[in-house]
Amino acid sequence: MSREDASHRATFGKPAKKSLGQHFLHERGVVDKLVLAIDPRPGDRIVEIGPGQGALTFPLLDRHGALTAIEFDRDLLEPLAAAAKAHGELTLIHADVMNIDFSALAGDSPTDDGRIRLVGNLPYNLSSPILFHALDHAAAVRDMHFMLQKEVVDRMAAGPGSKVYGRLSVMLQAYCTVTALFKVLPGAFRPPPKVDSAVVRLVPRPPEEIGIDDPRRFADVVRAAFGQRRKTLRNALGNVCTTEQIVAAGIDPQRRAEQLDVADFVRLANLAAAPENAESVA
Ligand code: SAM
Repeated sequence: MSREDASHRATFGKPAKKSLGQHFLHERGVVDKLVLAIDPRPGDRIVEIGPGQGALTFPLLDRHGALTAIEFDRDLLEPLAAAAKAHGELTLIHADVMNIDFSALAGDSPTDDGRIRLVGNLPYNLSSPILFHALDHAAAVRDMHFMLQKEVVDRMAAGPGSKVYGRLSVMLQAYCTVTALFKVLPGAFRPPPKVDSAVVRLVPRPPEEIGIDDPRRFADVVRAAFGQRRKTLRNALGNVCTTEQIVAAGIDPQRRAEQLDVADFVRLANLAAAPENAESVA
């Protein structure tokens, strides 16, 4: 065991828990790049998901002075709170992040931008649910910087025509600007994950720019289109919109989901959601 490992174990006691997706960052260069990308500014309300042993938490506290962190692993709480004192003011919430109301963490003063800035090296087994949970609170979120499996970041940022363009790409890009920032190799973590990782930035779009009339209908259309991605739209979308609606949206029903861009999906879902069309779909 290296000296660094030994001191970590002395502080935090327990070995990493696989079930909680614990891969602790230890490469200082990666942490520095992440903090640089987040670029905390005075007044920002930073909320970290899964602070773990503080790899990102402490440098952020050194730079910013205060932040809120949500950690599910009870064993980490005490040592994390104790070690944080030397760095700044850490508000630690013991919870499953999926039960956290992000909107309640944002401020409600109309004069300051009380929206939160979400950051975290996420547990990879929960990354999609966490992303969709954050989207549910998009109005309360200014931006997000997450470390994820690289393969997931590739799918999030992909465009039409790419092999990995799919439901995740369209659902996220409809609501956010998605930017893949940099790749991180397994050796940057203890224990190392089996896959490469990457950091991604998501910035929620202003509501007037999104243009989706009925979010549930939009999600249904995207799910159906990519549920059978090799099929033509006419066949894949049979249960959620008619061929006439596909044509009315200016889209050839013989095309496939992977050929449509986000604006195509928004137009199509809005037509399928229009009240005068409600009876023509199941
Ligand atoms: N931020 C630390 C780092 O970079 O070294 C730890 C990252 S580790 C990949 C993921 C962290 O998320 C762990 O601390 C884990 O305990 C925590 N976690 C896992 N599931 C969680 C959940 N449902 N809610 C909140 N935290 C969770």
